[in-house]
Amino acid sequence: ESGVPLIKTGALTTCTHLPYAPFQSKDSSGKVVGFDVALIDLVATKLGVTQEIVDTPFEGIKSGSDLNSGKCDVAAAGMTITDERKKVLDFSDPYFDATQALAVLTGSPVKTLEELVGKRLGVQGGTTGEDYIKKQVAEKKLDIEVVSYKDLAALQQALATNQVVAAVNDLPVWNEYIKANPGKVTVAAGFDTGEQYGFAVKKGNTALLKTVNEVLAAARTDGTYDKIYATWIGD
Ligand code: GLN
Repeated sequence: ESGVPLIKTGALTTCTHLPYAPFQSKDSSGKVVGFDVALIDLVATKLGVTQEIVDTPFEGIKSGSDLNSGKCDVAAAGMTITDERKKVLDFSDPYFDATQALAVLTGSPVKTLEELVGKRLGVQGGTTGEDYIKKQVAEKKLDIEVVSYKDLAALQQALATNQVVAAVNDLPVWNEYIKANPGKVTVAAGFDTGEQYGFAVKKGNTALLKTVNEVLAAARTDGTYDKIYATWIGD
């Protein structure tokens, strides 16, 4: 008995938003796998239960509504820790550093946001990438048509089929896409947003948050974190 209250007996229920490889995506057998999944599996093991993953829109995750309504115990979704989200969620210690990146089809001459004036730029709705781009476009008064897609798959599909000239998302996600689809897409520019991912629990769920942080710290100390990193992210 861990003493950590869980919404379902014998399970640690995780809310995520698919697909977000390499952090969470379905493998060829339909099983959800990835960097976040592997880390939360460690938490489940520590609690003596099995992780059960629920796929749900990112909006419900970042707004806290999924955790508050008892849909899941923990959110693991490549989610950046932000001050706004901290008002409605309690975040674990950071477990991953990320930046934003501008991807184009290989061979495209575009290297900067400025070169997208008069063109369409794709982003993923509700993400820090969308926020960053909308802010840049407004501040620099760039006449770019920013198009928001409902998930990463739709965004990548839009880029692949020329519905947008470029697309912004977290750098590791583009690196993974390039690994899976060699030669198709190139990272044209990076934006050093200094983001850090955190796992989230319902506000006030200190028992679970403490366990998550203990498991993360132990994994960093004993080399498990590095192994998981090498498996899902590479070097
Ligand atoms: N890291 C980004 C954010 O938190 C994207 C997360 C995601 O799409 N799963 O907004």
